[in-house]
Amino acid sequence: MKPVRAVVALGSNLEGPEARVRRAFDEVGALPGTRLLARSSLYRTAPVGFVDQPPFINACALVETTLAPRDLLEGLLAIERRHGRVRDIPNGPRTLDLDIVLYGDLAMHEHGLTLPHPRAHERAFVLAPLLEVWPDAVIPGRGAAAAFREAVRGQAIERVAEAA
Ligand code: ADP
Ligand code: MG
Repeated sequence: MKPVRAVVALGSNLEGPEARVRRAFDEVGALPGTRLLARSSLYRTAPVGFVDQPPFINACALVETTLAPRDLLEGLLAIERRHGRVRDIPNGPRTLDLDIVLYGDLAMHEHGLTLPHPRAHERAFVLAPLLEVWPDAVIPGRGAAAAFREAVRGQAIERVAEAA
């Protein structure tokens, strides 16, 4: 299969989020058939939805992968499990969340996998790191990712560190 460019959003707010997200970049890049092309800076963001929890560290990875979308998702969920991810409260605290934001120009909606990620364009903590690793990114069905920057300007996010 021809390699496809994909963007993975990383998020963590438990048990050493910064170090954990840095490690997760390497783990995503080590998935079969997958190469890490760029890592964004790390951003600190206030929790959305369930607000009584620590702030999140968010980032995006740009990868090139020969994995099919489902296989990429399975690989990411396996990494989450290795980080002790437990799903209890929706939008609640998590050691590691790995979402596929973009998978080439693919748009699909199936049980357990929606592409592009349905909320990416409305969240500053996804858009900012996404535009860092892929300034020309196009969100299938929605257009240039950069066009949404203005709409999320009011959302507080703070760039905390380069992803070394
Ligand atoms: P969220 O990321 O929305 O906070 P979870 O991480 O608990 O919630 O994910 C719940 C489910 O979302 C996953 O098990 C996965 O099957 C599904 N899902 C649907 N689309 C995607 C996507 N683009 N990337 C990652 N997971 C997705
Ligand atoms: Mg998720």
